[in-house]
Amino acid sequence: FSGHSLLRDPRHNKGLSFTEKERDAHYLRGLLPPVVLSQELQEKRLLQNVRQFEVPLQRYMALMDLQERNERLFYKLLVDHVEELLPVVYTPTVGEACQKYGSIFRRPQGLYISLKEKGRILEVLRNWPEKSIQVIVVTDGERILGLGDLGCQGMGIPVGKLALYSALGGVRPSACLPITIDVGTNNEDLLKDEFYIGLRQKRATGQEYSELLDEFMSAVRQNYGQKVLVQFEDFANHNAFALLEKYREIHLVFNDDIQGTAAVVLAGLIAALKSVGGSLGDHTFLFFGAGEAGTGIAELVALAISRQSKISIDEARNKIWLVDSKGLVVRSREETLQPFKKRYAHEHEPIKDLLGVVQAIRPTALIGSAGVARSFTKEVVEAMSSINKRPIILALSNPTSQSECTAEQAYSWSQGHAIFGSGSPFDPVKYNNKVFVPAQANNAYIFPGLGLGVVISGAIRVTDEMVLAAAEGLAEQAWLVISLAPKIS
Ligand code: NAP
Ligand code: MN
Repeated sequence: FSGHSLLRDPRHNKGLSFTEKERDAHYLRGLLPPVVLSQELQEKRLLQNVRQFEVPLQRYMALMDLQERNERLFYKLLVDHVEELLPVVYTPTVGEACQKYGSIFRRPQGLYISLKEKGRILEVLRNWPEKSIQVIVVTDGERILGLGDLGCQGMGIPVGKLALYSALGGVRPSACLPITIDVGTNNEDLLKDEFYIGLRQKRATGQEYSELLDEFMSAVRQNYGQKVLVQFEDFANHNAFALLEKYREIHLVFNDDIQGTAAVVLAGLIAALKSVGGSLGDHTFLFFGAGEAGTGIAELVALAISRQSKISIDEARNKIWLVDSKGLVVRSREETLQPFKKRYAHEHEPIKDLLGVVQAIRPTALIGSAGVARSFTKEVVEAMSSINKRPIILALSNPTSQSECTAEQAYSWSQGHAIFGSGSPFDPVKYNNKVFVPAQANNAYIFPGLGLGVVISGAIRVTDEMVLAAAEGLAEQAWLVISLAPKIS
């Protein structure tokens, strides 16, 4: 390293905190002003800079610039101010960043694998400077948060997820690899956008798509061995379930939207029952949204019920109801249902609207995972409160703009009785002179720890038992139980 290139290498650059000795040893004399700052002072200055931006996207850009300039300082800042900075590098701001990724693009982050690289993916992986990788987060950008198809601009998601792997899970940044697979986009606005960074074509599907994914998975195995963890993130559900089924038996993979979300929500439900009473099997669960998140959670809840109550998993599934875009999932719709919904097609007359479903099913917990903003109306929340003394209401859809209801709505419409959690964070709410602190039900509480456990244990498959154990572990955390039992004055 020459001094000059050391200052431009984010992994080793320490900026003004290089000591006198280091400045001599690494040919840095004169390349820095005379002062030597402590990391604490650098951190203080950075935080002031970030806070002075009022527009969240500008905060995001300031943090990404820091990551590209001085990685140590970026992680120090993130670790010391998780609550304040998570909403910037993660949901909700990362959603806006992906939407505008083309126009805010400065330096590439992560690895881009497009259809142009078909047949050469191994070569592409070898272009990545780090050779020893432990965790890959990969997206194809088709269902970014609740924002839909953002194509190649989905890269913000793997980058943000892996920042949490390091900040919250302690995995070395150099062992983390964010990847975006670009097979085109069906987003007309992006295809017309002159600053769009991806392939300007409609999405490849069918054989062309699955060949690319197969080549990717085997190139990963060939280059990094069988112990590299591949986390699938924000794939559309017509691919997500199939890819998970296909790869989970032969590679070290998990799908965060299906399995990570399931673990965090199961943990939340177990914690919430500490104030509601009863065990999981005593309650009825209604999912508004029957996709990756909804059915992923449903399956894990069913597994947990069957274990706890010593009943079959099919019997456990009878405690769980799903609503999709066509209404309540019922037996008479069975023929046209996707396979992952069929197990929940119970005998009942069809009902279209959510309020009607709540009144008919009378659930203890209502879990929103449809990505449809403001779908938990006043009437729905009131119905939940008239059925339950302490209704559990989880508005999982991200980012904040897609949330099923706000924290304030949940508390005021339930007259302070709701046990509320949301995918994106909400500030504490004052209602009736009490302060209610909403819980955040986001897979961020699971994947960094689950991933770390998988990597350090040397596992070669991710099993349902591991996901269940992660949920039970999280449910033991006192802070989660407290935040799900509101009324903290
Ligand atoms: P998905 O697989 O596409 O599933 C969406 C589901 O919502 C589908 O079942 C769809 O019905 C249903 N739906 C769409 N419009 C509807 C409507 N008007 N009424 C009723 N149901 C409707 O998506 P996903 O991966 O589950 O993600 C959904 C949302 O959950 C996103 O906003 C995402 O950000 C959020 N999420 C949150 C977390 C977290 O940690 N908090 C984790 C993962 C996902 P059809 O099946 O009929 O199409
Ligand atoms: Mn996701």
